[in-house]
Amino acid sequence: MYQSFIGLEVHIHLLTKTKVFCACRSAFGDEPNTNICPVCMGYPGVLPALNIESMRMGCMVARSLSCTIPRETWFERKQYFYPDMTKNYQISQFASPLGQAGWIDIEGRGREKPIKKRVRIKECHLEEDAGKMIHTGTVSLLDYNRAGVSLLEIVTEPDMETGEEAELFIQQLRRLVRYLGVCDGNMEEGSLRADANVSINLPGRGLGKKVEIKNLNSSRFVRLGLDYEIRRQAQFLDEGKEVVQETRLWNENRDRTEPMRTKENAQDYRYFPEPDLPVFTPDAAFLKSVEDALVELPLARFKRFMDEYGLTEEQADQLCEEKALSDYFEAAVRAAFKEGLAKHDAAERIANWLLGDIKHILGREGIPVNAIASFRLGPGRLASLVVMIAAGKISGKNAKQTVEAVIKEDKDPQSIVGERGWEQLNDPKLIAEAALAAFAGEADTVNTLRALIANPDNAKEKRRRALTAYLVGKVLAATGGRADPRIAGAQVEELLRR
Ligand SMILES: [Zn+2]
Repeated sequence: MYQSFIGLEVHIHLLTKTKVFCACRSAFGDEPNTNICPVCMGYPGVLPALNIESMRMGCMVARSLSCTIPRETWFERKQYFYPDMTKNYQISQFASPLGQAGWIDIEGRGREKPIKKRVRIKECHLEEDAGKMIHTGTVSLLDYNRAGVSLLEIVTEPDMETGEEAELFIQQLRRLVRYLGVCDGNMEEGSLRADANVSINLPGRGLGKKVEIKNLNSSRFVRLGLDYEIRRQAQFLDEGKEVVQETRLWNENRDRTEPMRTKENAQDYRYFPEPDLPVFTPDAAFLKSVEDALVELPLARFKRFMDEYGLTEEQADQLCEEKALSDYFEAAVRAAFKEGLAKHDAAERIANWLLGDIKHILGREGIPVNAIASFRLGPGRLASLVVMIAAGKISGKNAKQTVEAVIKEDKDPQSIVGERGWEQLNDPKLIAEAALAAFAGEADTVNTLRALIANPDNAKEKRRRALTAYLVGKVLAATGGRADPRIAGAQVEELLRR
């Protein structure tokens, strides 16, 4: 068997309002060529100016990946010609990238066996994106809106071995940059793009001939492309052939990689320091602003949710999918805990509401999960509701109606329940009175049931239960749905035996 070495280069669009070296708007989907100026169009004689926000967001990612931020970081010109880049060079970082020598732990259930691995990060560097070429028939159109958009490239060491590990890396990195709020992670729109490189060799022989795979615009394609490539190269070696060092493209329609260009030697981009941008020396205030903006990493939060709140892996994973959702969850649990509910009980109830009814309602109302902070049923309100349910003050059915009313009227659950008279009826005496009134209108059913009870018959047990449930339903209806169903059930059984 062979040993495989997989490295990834992930590009992320930083969510800065303006581009990295000019004041043009940085946005996806605008009318072509409307967000451009002489700087990002590369006119002669213009001067770029660094957007400090791009540098700050880049450093946030670097620090979250345990990278070191050097005392001095600067930019280089990477020379190459391509129609989507009018300057004929790209401003990038080469000798002193903003983030150096870090790592990230990846963990997951895995398809066959659990995955747990530390992936070293070689570097993170800041650069400008190029424009976009759109090929239609015999013409190619150019949209330069993307030219100059802040791009952070994250380069790993070749520490992964399977397509699945690389897929997990992308998924976790995507979650991380979304938690930091520095990238929307949308792979379809290209705000997170990955190139992979893979080489295989006999164990102990080190890296083999490196093949790069481009056009991997989903984490699934990363897995499929790499697994395909590992199989392809293994077959080559089995047949005694040599693997060619080249760049290949993933063809998603044919589920295979195809040659794009052969790269005998590393391209010489003639990097040289960008003379128009000064060396960036992060000062204490800048570094503090970076550290202050860091958040608990998604994997750490996922594990803590299981430990601290007793959630299942499935629940913790779903809640941690979006930072806003996990923030909401914790705020609600804390509020319910303050109102006297035990922590695990509160967590279980709140997780069930969030992952069930509330997710459903958000979908219905067209509210994205990451905008849950603006939802009318805020964490404090959900906590109050859950506390009322736990105390038996409100029935499950009325709780659902309360949620709908809270959303409609923007009021607290207590006010809604009070105004509607939805407090659950717990007094057995009052419920018994309601039951007797209901019995009066159901004489036939009551007689049948009493007969069945007087002469127990196993064959008719199912019928007895169905009729009892029917009667309990009548009692609940008689109280406007307010009676506690368990007490109502017990009262009906008791009255029938009298
Ligand atoms: Zn511009």
